[in-house]
Amino acid sequence: MLYVSTRGKTDIVSSAHAITRGLAGDGGLFVPQSIPVMRMTDIKAMSGKPYTERAVDVLLQYLTDFSEDELRQCVNAAYAPEKFGADPAPLVQVNENTGVLELWHGPTSAFKDMALQLLPHLLTRSIRKTGETNKVVILVATSGDTGKAALEGFADVEGTQIIVFYPKDGVSDMQKRQMITQAGKNVKVFGIEGNFDDAQRGVKEIFGNTALATALGTKGYSFSSANSINWGRLVPQIVYYFSAYVDAVKAGRIEAGDGINFVVPTGNFGNILAGYYAKLMGLPIERLLCASNSNNVLTDFINTGTYDKRREFYKTISPSMDILVSSNLERLLYNVTDCDSARVAEYMKQLNTEGAYKVDSDDLKRIQSEFFGAWVDELETKEAIGRIYSDYHYLMDTHTAVAWRALEKYRFLTSDETYTVVLSTASPYKFADSVLDALDDGQPAGSDAFAELHELNEKTGVEIPPRMLALQELPVLHKEIVAADKMELAVMTNLL
Ligand SMILES: *Cc1c(COP(=O)(O)O)cnc(C)c1O
Repeated sequence: MLYVSTRGKTDIVSSAHAITRGLAGDGGLFVPQSIPVMRMTDIKAMSGKPYTERAVDVLLQYLTDFSEDELRQCVNAAYAPEKFGADPAPLVQVNENTGVLELWHGPTSAFKDMALQLLPHLLTRSIRKTGETNKVVILVATSGDTGKAALEGFADVEGTQIIVFYPKDGVSDMQKRQMITQAGKNVKVFGIEGNFDDAQRGVKEIFGNTALATALGTKGYSFSSANSINWGRLVPQIVYYFSAYVDAVKAGRIEAGDGINFVVPTGNFGNILAGYYAKLMGLPIERLLCASNSNNVLTDFINTGTYDKRREFYKTISPSMDILVSSNLERLLYNVTDCDSARVAEYMKQLNTEGAYKVDSDDLKRIQSEFFGAWVDELETKEAIGRIYSDYHYLMDTHTAVAWRALEKYRFLTSDETYTVVLSTASPYKFADSVLDALDDGQPAGSDAFAELHELNEKTGVEIPPRMLALQELPVLHKEIVAADKMELAVMTNLL
């Protein structure tokens, strides 16, 4: 399996190369040249396997320059029970036709761990395969969860350094606490004066600066990315769609071969795109429901075909979805245009220069046949948390609640009662203040982040993730704040 750029102007590369580089040289994203297909018998066979072996099955299709043994070592190390518990991605049945896929049992209590625990293993092996001798500097722009998950994955990984930028007022208390207490010889964390899009733009500019890359190359550094623009971030996410499907069959909710829907709380379009790849690979997914918060640029796009980032940016209680430029949409466009890289490059150019683009009506039709878009406001999000807790005794975080509520809107509009899996992307404890607020029984919420954890625990009996409690004892190691236009300088002066 080889990889090409969505913008068509780079060489065809191996998966090791795509993972090492992160972003293609022409500014595009690496995509597989063709999509491998899995037969229903292969999918059914996953049923009897643990998550790690399901992962080997899927990864083997894409990472063809890795041996099966290598991939097995990578996934066994990444999804070890010490890190994820017995099942990294359990499917919990909440009602008759709805299951919740809990993707937050990893070290940082958000779904980013599913990919970012694996990526360092894939990356260090990819570096060896490509003969790269430079130190690989991972640059991360984060809306909160990627930063911590990447830090946790890359801390003290030989041959790498990691630098994270987060919007200083755009993440939750707990998210910030997780990042600024991160230990490791090779880690650096900066708050920036700006929002996530500013951080992401800054990182993309550094990647796009070829003069800088050349200069640093001679000094022994290459940049790479742990954001979902990196193929190595995306491919591990395809696995859990298959895993959820076979678990739904196992639980007797569907028969093998039946259609299924997934609803995904979406920000950068990475998670839901992985579901789209699963569908192209032969998993019988009927609809992918793209759930947004008040930053509803994707809902508008799916409904109208116009992607317009020129709009107000809202800070919401689901901050990991506070994004106006969803990078991975570029990969979807590549597929729906039948790999027309010139057209994709043109759309992306318009987005950069004018702040908007409109896709052809044929492209839009194809998108609408696969995706449904809905958005959910703050009140609805909280209402869903409270109601689902009281109806089913199931406690959701704010992001998961956006997805749940979007599913209700979809069912109301379409009367489609297909069995549906809600992707749950964070532990409710990661956003304890908003979750408490949603469960409000008139009592004031706790005065600090840790008091809130205990309060939520007392109210619900749901176990507090031990690593989150332990944060209270950890010293703050990273205090620097930089201006959004000084990110390059921050990188240059902090290379190890
Ligand atoms: C990152 C994140 C999302 C959005 O995922 P994308 O792949 O960026 O669409 C949703 N929920 C949580 C909790 C996240 O951390």
